[in-house]
Amino acid sequence: MFKERIDILEREADNPTLFQNEIYEGFRQQAKFYERVASLHSSLPLEDMGRQLFKILGEVINISTLELVKWSATDRAFVTAAAYSDQPPASELKCNKNLINWSLKNKTVSLVPSDDPRCLQSGINGVFILPLIGSEGKLGALLLWGNYTLETSSWLVMHMLNFVAKDISGVFENIILRRRSRNIAELMDGIIECVPQAIMAVDMDNRILACNRNAEFMFDFKRVFALDEHYTEVLPEKLIPVFSSLIMSTISGKHEIDYETEYPLADGTVLMIGISTSLLYNREGNAMGVLLICRDLSLSREVQKLRELDQMKDEFVHTVSHELKTPLTSILGCSETLLEIRHELSDDFAEILDILVDSAEHLKELIADLLDMSRLQTGRMVLEKTPCDLRHGVDEIIGMLENNKNDCTLVVNIPEDMPPIDADYDKLKRVFQNFIGNAVKYSPAGGEVRIDIETAGDMAVIKISDHGLGMPKDQLPFIFDKFFRVDSSTTASIEGTGLGLSIAKHIIELHGGTVDVVSTLGKGSTFTIKLPVQ
Ligand code: ADP
Repeated sequence: MFKERIDILEREADNPTLFQNEIYEGFRQQAKFYERVASLHSSLPLEDMGRQLFKILGEVINISTLELVKWSATDRAFVTAAAYSDQPPASELKCNKNLINWSLKNKTVSLVPSDDPRCLQSGINGVFILPLIGSEGKLGALLLWGNYTLETSSWLVMHMLNFVAKDISGVFENIILRRRSRNIAELMDGIIECVPQAIMAVDMDNRILACNRNAEFMFDFKRVFALDEHYTEVLPEKLIPVFSSLIMSTISGKHEIDYETEYPLADGTVLMIGISTSLLYNREGNAMGVLLICRDLSLSREVQKLRELDQMKDEFVHTVSHELKTPLTSILGCSETLLEIRHELSDDFAEILDILVDSAEHLKELIADLLDMSRLQTGRMVLEKTPCDLRHGVDEIIGMLENNKNDCTLVVNIPEDMPPIDADYDKLKRVFQNFIGNAVKYSPAGGEVRIDIETAGDMAVIKISDHGLGMPKDQLPFIFDKFFRVDSSTTASIEGTGLGLSIAKHIIELHGGTVDVVSTLGKGSTFTIKLPVQ
């Protein structure tokens, strides 16, 4: 449009009047302005683009700060992406989010007066808001802070700024898209470098297009020297026939292949590697090469073997514990018969009998623990849930501990209206027995053990506290591990298998609950169990 007008004026320029000259000069400058704005293209870094625009606009309006704000969908706010200023520091200026949104909604430039004292102090009395709108919606805005007069917002200036808004929207969108695709490319590079497999791509002429760090390690070559080289020049000789036939079959059959092969290393060890291939296509859908992904199978076989061994060990423990139960029941039966005539035995024999009974009882507990543990680990422990009265469960355990409570006082605090919880009663008792038994066992004679139960929301909260030995902080993370016992001379003298807490935690988790511990060495411990009521 301007070009045409300038052409007309140029034709008439041979015989110009003063008025025509002025109009001509006005159009010429305007056209130059548009040309300069349009020359700002997206290949410029954002900073350079902003700086140049600041300069160009400065020749038209009295602008002191140019701020480019970007709409952040995550923060649901406009954030400053770049700012150029004579004074004051651009970050101090804040434009109302609603005003920017208004300009974006109406797709038009607006001039908003500013009475912010900091602005006025710096001679700024208003801000032009130039909406930046991309193909997929709002991108942000260009804010032009400055000292403006009434004439500044003339039709012509508004027209020019609307042009700038449209043009810069395109530039800004391209910059954002370029940054985004650069970030995606960097992320993809990072992922390819991190995957545990060796990755290599060759083109249709068998030249290496790309490879990752693991390929360098696995096939012992340097990437800088390998790129663009024929793979037969780079890969270990022993693998070349395998790679050749895989690449050829992939290209000719146009399909994916999975293959396993042995790869002898220089030190004599033999790696088992799995190779998967697939055809690489370009944007036009034409085959451009082959992608090869190689993984070290020895490692996963090792893990598999360890898993199998672990399973065998669990089976073994289960079978042995089961087999031990029968002779042990006989030993316990016989010793009970002997206990009936204990008073007839000499002191020495009576003492031997006591040791025999004690040891057999200990063995019975150990076998019961081992069997429970193996049932839990092999998923053979099944819950038979019924509505359980917690008070009843606690009372039963206290009754069982009656002869073995080390003179401890057991204080129980359960609200009258405590609802029953949906649980496996026997397993729950096993849990109580362990925690209450431990609290007594690891307390000095005559200590106090508290059992406090309450409901919190839909959970029953059971707290078992003692003022006993307590545990060192650094050992707390391990106390629920199998066979773990706190490392101290005092604990060592107290009998235990180190399996109780581990079993109890498993049972609690099977019920959908949790267990936590707070403990201070020498002061005592509190175990908190949370179980769902329903
Ligand atoms: P154990 O059969 O040894 O008692 P547990 O699995 O029940 O096995 O407990 C593991 C270890 O945690 C115990 O050996 C003990 O060192 C420590 N422990 C458990 N409960 C307490 C407690 N209430 N006070 C102090 N130490 C405790």
